[in-house]
Amino acid sequence: MKVSQLGEFGLIDALKKFTPVSKRVIKGIGDDAAVLPFNKNEYLLFTTDMLAEDTHFTRRMSPQSIGHKALACNISDIAAMGGYPTFAVVSIGTPKNLPVRFVEEMYQGIQRVAKHFNVSIVGGDTIKTDKIIINIALLGLVEKKYLVARDGARPGDWIFVTGPLGNSLKSGRHLNFLPRLAQARFLVEKFKPSAMMDISDGLAGDLNHILKASQVGACLDDASIPRQRGASLSQALNDGEDFELLFTLAPLKARSLMDWQVRQKSFYFYPIGTITANVKEKINSKSFTHF
Ligand code: ADP
Ligand code: MG
Repeated sequence: MKVSQLGEFGLIDALKKFTPVSKRVIKGIGDDAAVLPFNKNEYLLFTTDMLAEDTHFTRRMSPQSIGHKALACNISDIAAMGGYPTFAVVSIGTPKNLPVRFVEEMYQGIQRVAKHFNVSIVGGDTIKTDKIIINIALLGLVEKKYLVARDGARPGDWIFVTGPLGNSLKSGRHLNFLPRLAQARFLVEKFKPSAMMDISDGLAGDLNHILKASQVGACLDDASIPRQRGASLSQALNDGEDFELLFTLAPLKARSLMDWQVRQKSFYFYPIGTITANVKEKINSKSFTHF
């Protein structure tokens, strides 16, 4: 069987049986980041993302923005668990004819995001490849009481997103987005979502991950799904790389979040539907997968 017959998530599932985990692992494969033991009050978070030339970017794009994205998408995964990022290692594969300047500028992009989000780059690896590859692995921490996973959504919960969706690839927003770390920290400190993840493969497909993990269904109000300028409903549902947060909140908390945001203007959270008890109520998706 070929990789393309399994699909990206089928392949990850198939690999699970070769990845034994000890009892000390709190959450392994299947969420935005792994959750590991750390100390009495906090968990360690661990995530990685890889970008490759001609799959995620081309040499015509600005190297700074490639570096920016490589770190920003990892920070987005740490934020999605309710935590904050700490230390990262950066591995690159570079073709031998690549101008040194290109790599330096990629690192400028990484450094700018690292500084903004208080991340230290503490190592990495460098190899020769045919196409440019950049992989970042990022650690983070989360107070145990603030950890949010994908499996806590309950019937009646409201579903929210942190911003307008769709058109991210065409508009170039996927290269310069700022991960929603401040929003995630605000939410876990003040409202404690029942489930949360970041939208990397499209709202519809990603919401289905929450539904599957939580064993619930969902009903979306299409008209209230916020769209980026020029994005159709289908694009808002299915385009990937939005990097907004998708989260669910128990009804009482959802109402108080709505009241809160009428009174102030710092963040806006968009209610887009509700969680139902009917597991058959999945979202129709043409979600992005790699194969
Ligand atoms: P995200 O978009 O949030 O970064 P992915 O869709 O890339 O998450 O991955 C889904 C889950 O599968 C994550 O828990 C990730 O750690 C895990 N995963 C992805 N690829 C592999 C792999 N090659 N081996 C083991 N686990 C993997
Ligand atoms: Mg994610």
